[in-house]
Amino acid sequence: MKIGGLQKTTLIDYPGKVATTVFLSGCNFRCGYCYNPELVLPEKAKKHPEISQEDFFRFLDSRKNLLDGVCVTGGEPTVNPELSWFLGEIKKRGFLVKLDTNGSHPETLENLFKKGLVDYVAMDIKAPLEKYEEVTGSKIDKEKIKKSIEIIKNSEIEYEFRTTLIPGVHGKEEVSKMGELIKGAKRYFLQNFMPEKTINNGFLEKKPFVVKDLENFRKEASFFVENCSIRE
Ligand code: SF4
Repeated sequence: MKIGGLQKTTLIDYPGKVATTVFLSGCNFRCGYCYNPELVLPEKAKKHPEISQEDFFRFLDSRKNLLDGVCVTGGEPTVNPELSWFLGEIKKRGFLVKLDTNGSHPETLENLFKKGLVDYVAMDIKAPLEKYEEVTGSKIDKEKIKKSIEIIKNSEIEYEFRTTLIPGVHGKEEVSKMGELIKGAKRYFLQNFMPEKTINNGFLEKKPFVVKDLENFRKEASFFVENCSIRE
């Protein structure tokens, strides 16, 4: 497992908690708008500085009683075969775990949940299912995406679904279909695309949605979920 980054303190990544965020390298998707190419593209990841596991756990040990939890993000954490061990080491130290995922490995999620290794899970909904391959630039097993959604919704674990909204990719129809895909979910966050650093530089030309558009999307998605909010 390669640790490609560490944000030592965050007040926003884990709702209601003071946390640290650890970025794991590797992802099975290639979303053109991805903000973390250095974690996703092997040629960039190779050159990207690595944090050793020893240093990471030493840091965590120094933060006992100062942090509530650890956000484990990527990349896509579930592509790492050692993830269960890694989360276990975090839990052993008494921290809550928030896991970010693209939902491509439902069996891994189920296994981690059963072992009690996750306290909060955030799953990205990339697009309506028929647009998943286009948006993620990858071959997708859509059944796995649907299965992850069901596992998360039916779990006892706190969760959210979330979508980064991309102009030219998502519109009212897409938001409505994504809402339908997660129908009945407790929490759905919509976040605006920010053209800063991407896998596909074509996305840097795109202008983020204006507030009025976001609010209309929020209203549209609210038909399907208990609570839909815009995340800044
Ligand atoms: S946005 Fe997430 S799922 Fe997509 S390529 Fe980047 S890290 Fe992977």
